[in-house]
Amino acid sequence: TKWVYSFGNGLNEGRAEMRNLLGGKGANLAEMASIGLPVPPGFTITTEVCSAFYDNGRKYPDDLHAQVGAAMQRIEEAMGLRFGDADAPLLVSVRSGARVSMPGMMDTVLNLGLNDTTVEGLARSSGDERFAWDSYRRFVQMYGSVVMGVAHHHFEDVLDQFKRTLGVVDDTAISATQWREVVKAYHEIISEHTGQEFPSDPQAQLWGAIGAVFGSWMNPRANTYRKLHDIPASWGTAVNVQSMVFGNMGDDCATGVCFTRDPSTGEDVFYGEYLVNAQGEDVVAGIRTPQPMSRARAEEGQNPMETVLPDAYAELLRVRSLLEGHYHDMQDIEFTVQRNVLYLLQTRNGKRTAAAALKIAIDMAREGLISKEDAICRVPATSLDQLLHPALDPKAERVQLTRGLPASPGAASGAVVFTAEECEARAARGEDVILVRVETSPEDVHGMHAARGVLTARGGMTSHAAVVARGMGRVCVAGAGSVHIDYTTMVMTIDGHSIAEGEWITLDGSTGAVYLGRVATIPPILSDDFNTLMGWADATRRLGVRANAETPDDAKTARRFGAEGIGLARTEHMFFGPDRIGLVRQMIIADDEAVRQRAINALLTFQRDDFVSIFRIMAGLPVTVRLLDPPLHEFLPHAEGEIAEVATALGRTVEEIRARCASLAEANPMLGHRGCRLGLTNPEIYAMQVRALIEAALQVSDETGKGIVPEIMIPLVATKAELEVARRAAEAEIISVLQERGASLDYRIGTMIELPRAAIQAGEIAHHADFFSFGTNDLTQTTFGLSRDDAGSFLPFYVDHGLLPKDPFVSIDRDGVGALVRMGVERGRATHPGLKLGICGEHGGDPDSIAFFEAVGLDYVSCSPFRVPVARLAAAQAAL
Ligand code: PEP
Ligand code: MG
Repeated sequence: TKWVYSFGNGLNEGRAEMRNLLGGKGANLAEMASIGLPVPPGFTITTEVCSAFYDNGRKYPDDLHAQVGAAMQRIEEAMGLRFGDADAPLLVSVRSGARVSMPGMMDTVLNLGLNDTTVEGLARSSGDERFAWDSYRRFVQMYGSVVMGVAHHHFEDVLDQFKRTLGVVDDTAISATQWREVVKAYHEIISEHTGQEFPSDPQAQLWGAIGAVFGSWMNPRANTYRKLHDIPASWGTAVNVQSMVFGNMGDDCATGVCFTRDPSTGEDVFYGEYLVNAQGEDVVAGIRTPQPMSRARAEEGQNPMETVLPDAYAELLRVRSLLEGHYHDMQDIEFTVQRNVLYLLQTRNGKRTAAAALKIAIDMAREGLISKEDAICRVPATSLDQLLHPALDPKAERVQLTRGLPASPGAASGAVVFTAEECEARAARGEDVILVRVETSPEDVHGMHAARGVLTARGGMTSHAAVVARGMGRVCVAGAGSVHIDYTTMVMTIDGHSIAEGEWITLDGSTGAVYLGRVATIPPILSDDFNTLMGWADATRRLGVRANAETPDDAKTARRFGAEGIGLARTEHMFFGPDRIGLVRQMIIADDEAVRQRAINALLTFQRDDFVSIFRIMAGLPVTVRLLDPPLHEFLPHAEGEIAEVATALGRTVEEIRARCASLAEANPMLGHRGCRLGLTNPEIYAMQVRALIEAALQVSDETGKGIVPEIMIPLVATKAELEVARRAAEAEIISVLQERGASLDYRIGTMIELPRAAIQAGEIAHHADFFSFGTNDLTQTTFGLSRDDAGSFLPFYVDHGLLPKDPFVSIDRDGVGALVRMGVERGRATHPGLKLGICGEHGGDPDSIAFFEAVGLDYVSCSPFRVPVARLAAAQAAL
């Protein structure tokens, strides 16, 4: 059996498709090497060895040693070095690599092959004794902790103690002789804690590291992770052994991280940072300030790689086009230059902001690198939210405190806090907060999530804060060096300004500026790229996209975002205006018919005006108006003054009004006297609404010459009879309006399907409906028997504990609520071919749910105006 696959230097035995055999990392390395990228040579021990190892009582296959030996020899030839050589030793890295990346396993050992003899060889061949001993101590520390299991902090303690004695702060100030001492101390720690000597034989080191990788496949953390993520233990992990290359062997060496395009804006410029004479971790650690790649992006005093290492830079440009040509996506790469020779260590699809995702997708489609369909799928629908983020109002007054890196775009203001915990606590109380840290780590992620924005004093565009904030769509300014934070007094100072916890600042993540106090923001301007993508999405999707809107402002926003009509106008929202609520209360409470009718007539005028403005804004697009839905008591007066007002208007005593209000109270109002039940028992309310709607439609039809076709929607129907009667009443009112006016008008009458019974009886109900609109908010509530208004206190527990995969009010429960929707669709269409079908619950703006609605064949989704672009894109993605 072939257990070992070589890569690099022209010998490429693996392929990208061999992921199961070579693991993710191994397959990637094989692929990179095979397209001509300069990867350091190495080999992969297959996942089958891992399985064989565990099947045979932790023993390797017989011929594994021979195959590894041969592969090591090939690396030696490629690099012109020998493993364990006293003069010019080859050093390797050993890494794990399962099919999917998996925390909990042994990760990496670097510089393997060093011992007391080879370190001298490295010192001679590199001409840098200090570097050799520094590499050696890094290796002993890493090997000691990950292979031999000595806790990391023991090494740290020794080093700290050393530095204190020497009076130095930076590792860079430690000399070769001093590192020698540290190495000796490290060796002692290891024998003290393990009772074993640190292995000096490179072969023993190699097999120790290989064994540690395979051993870690079954360690408890890895087992737990696999269980949580349904990864079978039988997959096994591969081991990758690769030649070390050094970016810290002198001034013709360097290391860097870069993106093939700008991950913030998407601009087609090579983007990143590098450090001369440094190791990879130095770039991320933020101790030295990285330098820009290109002259074009360099500011005065900076040393771009293009100038400093022109040959390696030219090679990098060649690599860049190879990468995009092959991967058809923006790449995030890590590279090292050793003695002017470029090596590519890693490439992966680069993380990017929503704005960059959009621009890159459009540009790449235009460049012919990807298709329009690919472009549509490259932009996560939910990320459009970020593009719709506010920016600073250019006219707003501002006091700039400092400037850092523009790490994640958008503008945000909030109270300064210095810990993730405080950030979460304040956000939970509804405060806007900005998390300010020297730098962030994974422990801060929950705080970052709760924050409006993140400001760090240290770190570059690839720092933790920058990458995580970008991914979350949080505003971020990183590496603002003049920010000094005192975590004990909870005060930061910026160039003489003191800002205590709780004081406000504003971040502009698009420029990196930090301002004092709150600076006004403006809504985002939609770019041409955005419009292009939306155009492609519109040409691709089958589902229509409407908006839920009842105010003129919302209707305008909806149109601006491309809604193709209104799928739900909740008329009760029109009842709460200060000029109306009094009339609504009189309508509900009056027992004198004449008084009641007077209130209703007055409301009619308001409703008609509301409908007129909506019809005008929607300019002939379909508008679905839902008749009154909530229980009447929601409109009742509570405050003394309100009650007195109604009493005066109706000529009653306060006590009488109070008694009447009390009589309207219900134990379970959401399951009580609401929806069509209300319309059927109080027919004059629906009659007024229908009249207002028809009169408005006639008026706007006359004005515009466009025939307005109003869609009247009856809520909370459970039975065929309810709809039949409600429809008959509505039609009687329509006919009387049309007769009064001597006019004619097309209209549709439909219903919401938001009760399980309605979905089950959809075939019967469809006889009386021109359309259905699934009210998945109530349908979720009634299917689960789960109150929409109370679930917040325990649903998170359900989701956290895996009792529900997601909040069913956010993302449709396909198996339960979704099954009812599917049933409603099938049964409705069976008796009424051509029945128009939509959905107007919150799920109409959720990409996962939209994929489901596409699959069940709805005609349109309707969602809140700001989510209309999300829905348009999600609908296109669902259609592909
Ligand atoms: C629904 O129930 O899904 C719906 C859209 O109506 P509302 O949210 O107004 O109850
Ligand atoms: Mg409802």
